[in-house]
Amino acid sequence: MNLELAGRVAVVTGGTSGIGLCAVRRFLDEGASVAFCARDRARVDAVTAELAQTAGDRVLGVVADVLDVAALDAFRAHVEERFGRADVLVHNAGKSRMLPLAELDDADWTEELELKFFGLLRPTRAFVPLLRKSDVASMVYVSSLLAKQPETRLVSTSAARAGALNLAKSFSFEFAPAIRVNSILLGVIDTGQWEARLAARRAGGETIERAAYISELARERGIPLGRIGHPEEVAAAIAFLASPLCGFMTGAVIEISGGFSRYV
Ligand code: NDP
Repeated sequence: MNLELAGRVAVVTGGTSGIGLCAVRRFLDEGASVAFCARDRARVDAVTAELAQTAGDRVLGVVADVLDVAALDAFRAHVEERFGRADVLVHNAGKSRMLPLAELDDADWTEELELKFFGLLRPTRAFVPLLRKSDVASMVYVSSLLAKQPETRLVSTSAARAGALNLAKSFSFEFAPAIRVNSILLGVIDTGQWEARLAARRAGGETIERAAYISELARERGIPLGRIGHPEEVAAAIAFLASPLCGFMTGAVIEISGGFSRYV
């Protein structure tokens, strides 16, 4: 299927790892130009250098924290200077906070709410003026199933994701008809986040193989498809939602969880 993304410009937050990196690769494969940001300069430079080997100047990596207004303005200025436009903004940067209610203090809550709300609001404010100039503008918000199905060990992330999903829905009204806004709710996807948790368990003295850890994740959660997801499977959905072929979809929510949700 031709997603009609060739010649378009996609902006991806959190593009150096996991789902964001797969989305960057997918947009490049579709013939789009891509600008991405992340905080760690070494990883931004390494990913940019690797991708530029095949994509040339269709790829732009910039160091920016999605909470840093000045850095986001500079990011947009880089995008305008290199590509002169932006057609897609993928809100992907972030992480979850695996702590139960009893272990969360106010600082944890403040940090989590700030990342989930301002990590969506500030890139939106930075890029909306540029997106408004596109004839096929859209935003894709990468979120979690936790927004609709809270988990006790991820209680602050669940609550923050619920509110931010509501905000993304408001964006779909606010920016229509100029910019479509759609969301993706994820179950467990095999990325750096889970890698970091495996490393933490190993550092705590456990000897656990990666394959065993991954199948334990799927088994523990009772995921009907019997496995966790691949970031490429999420990237495919991101590209689809960003595509002009989806021109009549806005305010929609797609779930990618292997059937893990319990709501109807
Ligand atoms: P990874 O940890 O693999 O990648 C996260 C990316 O975001 C990295 O490039 C990281 O780079 C960047 N990033 C993190 N914080 C910021 C920030 N404040 N500003 C800019 N960039 C940032 O994560 P995933 O691919 O697993 O997750 C992507 C999104 O999907 C996240 O929002 C996550 O919460 C969500 N999600 C993931 C699930 C999963 O199972 N993997 C499940 C549900 C939701 P750097 O650290 O250098 O900034």
